[in-house]
Amino acid sequence: MKRILVIGGGIAGTAAALALHKAGFDAAVHEAHPDTAEDIGAFLTLASNGMRALAQLDASDAVTSVGFPLSSMRLLDDRGDEVAHAPLGEAGDALLRYRCLRRGALNAALQAEVTRRGIGLSHGARLVSIENGPDRVTARFADGSAATGDLLIGADGLNSTVRRSIAPDVRPVYAGQRVFYGYARCAPAAEDTGHITMVRGGPAAFGYAVSPEKETYWFARVAGEALSADELAPRTPSPWRRQLVELLREDATLAADIVAASSDGIMVTNATEIPLGTPWRSGRTILIGDAAHAASPATGQGASMALEDAVILAKSLRDAPDVASAFTVYEACRRPRVEHNITVSGQISRGTRAPSRTGPAATTPRPGDDTLVAQLEWDTDIRTVAGSTD
Ligand SMILES: Cc1cc2nc3c(=O)[nH]c(=O)nc-3n(C[C@H](O)[C@H](O)[C@H](O)COP(=O)(O)OP(=O)(O)OC[C@H]3O[C@@H](n4cnc5c(N)ncnc54)[C@H](O)[C@@H]3O)c2cc1C
Repeated sequence: MKRILVIGGGIAGTAAALALHKAGFDAAVHEAHPDTAEDIGAFLTLASNGMRALAQLDASDAVTSVGFPLSSMRLLDDRGDEVAHAPLGEAGDALLRYRCLRRGALNAALQAEVTRRGIGLSHGARLVSIENGPDRVTARFADGSAATGDLLIGADGLNSTVRRSIAPDVRPVYAGQRVFYGYARCAPAAEDTGHITMVRGGPAAFGYAVSPEKETYWFARVAGEALSADELAPRTPSPWRRQLVELLREDATLAADIVAASSDGIMVTNATEIPLGTPWRSGRTILIGDAAHAASPATGQGASMALEDAVILAKSLRDAPDVASAFTVYEACRRPRVEHNITVSGQISRGTRAPSRTGPAATTPRPGDDTLVAQLEWDTDIRTVAGSTD
């Protein structure tokens, strides 16, 4: 049985481990953080395509135990008037419905599922280097330990160490927006549950969703120069609330009041993407998730794309006759689709493309939409539904 080292225990890495285990491989996850509590702050939405990938891993229950469902998206103009209200994705299917989750809760749920299935998961294992041999690959960690396997999957996110070993000159690129997140109890829209509301046409791309516990999860994407590491550092009280409230007061929606009602933990990050054409593989090593194709957050697809990667890579390794062909099939299935997402999301962030008026689920069709269901379906042979591998 092939032993596969998975570097990174985030969304891509944990899902890959579940998929590899289901396909009969001996997978082990090596995660840098000493516990699961990393990045508990930010939240994200999993779209129906990501939920479909989780269902193929028999992991829906693990994830629907956290977060809350979203059935539709409302679009407001800067006067607060509703200009669209449309169902989100496969809203009628309880397993495939969009879900809003704190990133830390999603990671913890997926890590718990990995452990529950008896898959190895070590924390505090920060990869520092890789040695690719003809038959084996060795990962070396900051604490002096090492692990050897037949393959290594780099699921170590935006600033991937694995990617540096494959493509040392590639750097993440700023996509023109700062992204703020926060949470508010007793916010003015607290009755507004079950959907995500987006405000467009104002000084920021603003969105919020209200949990069943009446907590408002909000984000604001604001054009500007990239923030420095010092400006990005968490601070209490946050210097951002006053600035955001002033900015958002320019429109007549609830946005400024929601931010004003927020707790101190306002987070900020730069919207960042990986350049198109970045190499994903070398020898016995391959990249998935943000390590391969991080996109700016405008389309809200990064986590869902990472989940798709996990299923399709495991199926490629299961179905192809050798590792090189498996990597080729995986890349043929994935590259057009994820690079389209980087492009569209980057254009929205840079203001050169208008976002869809009916929500992320209804953005222009993506490459691979027509074959995705078959590619994710666990029992189909990936080679019969892959795109061209020329
Ligand atoms: C502001 C913002 C908003 C977003 N909103 C959404 C959204 O609404 N919907 C959506 O689908 N996506 C969203 N995303 C994208 C989503 O968060 C990412 O696409 C997703 O987290 C990628 O998962 P990953 O596992 O590839 O990377 P990560 O989640 O970053 O996980 C990487 C893991 O690798 C570990 N690691 C890093 N270096 C090492 C090392 N050297 N050794 C060992 N382990 C290491 C890290 O600790 C981490 O646990 C958003 C992203 C941002 C920045």
